[in-house]
Amino acid sequence: MYKGECLCGAVKYAINASIDTIECCHCLTCRKAHASAFAIGVTIKRANFNLLAGNSHLAEFESSKGKLRVFCNQCGSHIYAYRPTEPLTLRLRPALLNTDLSQFQIKHIYTATRLCL
Ligand SMILES: [Zn+2]
Ligand SMILES: [Zn+2]
Repeated sequence: MYKGECLCGAVKYAINASIDTIECCHCLTCRKAHASAFAIGVTIKRANFNLLAGNSHLAEFESSKGKLRVFCNQCGSHIYAYRPTEPLTLRLRPALLNTDLSQFQIKHIYTATRLCL
């Protein structure tokens, strides 16, 4: 069980799943969506995502066809992404977890557009 929250604290959630590997995505879309060199993500079952607070603060943006990115409309933190065609899973942004992320294994993806490391 993990808990996470956005930068301003309006959106809070709990994850009822074990995580062992986090992916660092270096694709151009993630770089822009997160305004960062890369984004970290982990795919979990939607049923294991429990929103505890902030439903009215969730906003969505379709960053590429069929993929929606969900963020806090107050502070801009990226919460998760999902595809309506894949309703059983979502792509969590684990940087928001109140957890020591160094315990997880790291895998790099879309490294052709990698900036550093
Ligand atoms: Zn927020
Ligand atoms: Zn990406």
